Amino acid sequence: MERVYNFSPGPACMPLPVLEKAASELVNYGTAGMSVMEMSHRSKAFLDIIQEAEKLLRELMGIPGNYKVLFLQGGASMQFAMVPLNLFKNKKADYVKTGQWASKAISEAKKFGTVNVVASSEDKIYSYIPDLDKNKFSKDADYFYITLNNTIYGTRFTELPQTDAPLVTDWSSGILSEVIDVSKFGLIFAGAQKNIGPAGVTVVIIREDLIGHALDITPTMLNYKTQADDESLYNTPPTYAIYMAKLVFEWLKGLGGVPAVQKINEEKAAMVYGFLDNSKLFKGTVVTKDRSIMNIPFVTGSEELDKKFINEAKAAGLVNLGGHRTVGGMRASIYNPMPVEGVKALVDFMKKFEFENK
Ligand code: PMP
Repeated sequence: MERVYNFSPGPACMPLPVLEKAASELVNYGTAGMSVMEMSHRSKAFLDIIQEAEKLLRELMGIPGNYKVLFLQGGASMQFAMVPLNLFKNKKADYVKTGQWASKAISEAKKFGTVNVVASSEDKIYSYIPDLDKNKFSKDADYFYITLNNTIYGTRFTELPQTDAPLVTDWSSGILSEVIDVSKFGLIFAGAQKNIGPAGVTVVIIREDLIGHALDITPTMLNYKTQADDESLYNTPPTYAIYMAKLVFEWLKGLGGVPAVQKINEEKAAMVYGFLDNSKLFKGTVVTKDRSIMNIPFVTGSEELDKKFINEAKAAGLVNLGGHRTVGGMRASIYNPMPVEGVKALVDFMKKFEFENK
């Protein structure tokens, strides 16, 4: 069985050279005489891995020295609670509601304080990024929260909100896909299973002054200070996932880093959008200016044809093209590891399908 092109939103496809390298080291890592899976998280061999992973991520993203990088468990969803628990002082925050993940973050923050939803795109099934009116921002918000890339609906912020409160973002489905200025953010978090590696590790990049003020009720494990003081080694971290992340960071560096992969990502996205904009059968569902370069939702207008497309694409080795279970239609997730050939194969298949279903 050959490998397929996997358009899954996450866990998503991994770079083949990374899988091959991991396979070659699976049973015996370097001179350790054992797999990374079998190592103590306090061993020198593993400490070298986690330190190198952090160093590479800092280099790739240009993370300033006054930020901590944490490798945590609990997924991006755990951050929905950790952010308010750690950042609430006035117990008030501004949120932009751009989809299901933002909504879940809002519900969680409401357990610990007041949430001001400054804008929402719910009225049009989150198919755009709402304009932000500064007059609606809270004067005393502890932070301002956005989901930079919306995995399910395929939107992304192309401009950052102008806010005095620390900017917090869930960048699970966009991290390392394009260049950003980390210093504009107070906190960035991302689940690994799209652009970083396998599921199991969540990266948190946090400005140091935001650490150490957690609410009294914060459990030890959910306090950024615990994790920062012990360099993500307070307890056993997801060692193998961190090792895989390190391999992905090395691969990305070898490609030429984030600017190089951004260029490829823009080309890949332009191939799909270019086709969608000229198709008589397929239609993108997001307003042009807010389109994601990672997740591309589209429809034919007929549920029956959508199903047929997904099934026939699967038979042709293009898998996981179904839209999120709550929105239907199709979605192509084309994260960093998706090769240009995979996107080309998808567009060729869409052309063929359109011709056969005129
Ligand atoms: N935020 C975003 C933007 C996501 O895409 C996802 C998962 N697809 C999550 C949060 C939830 O991540 P996790 O399953 O790691 O909790």
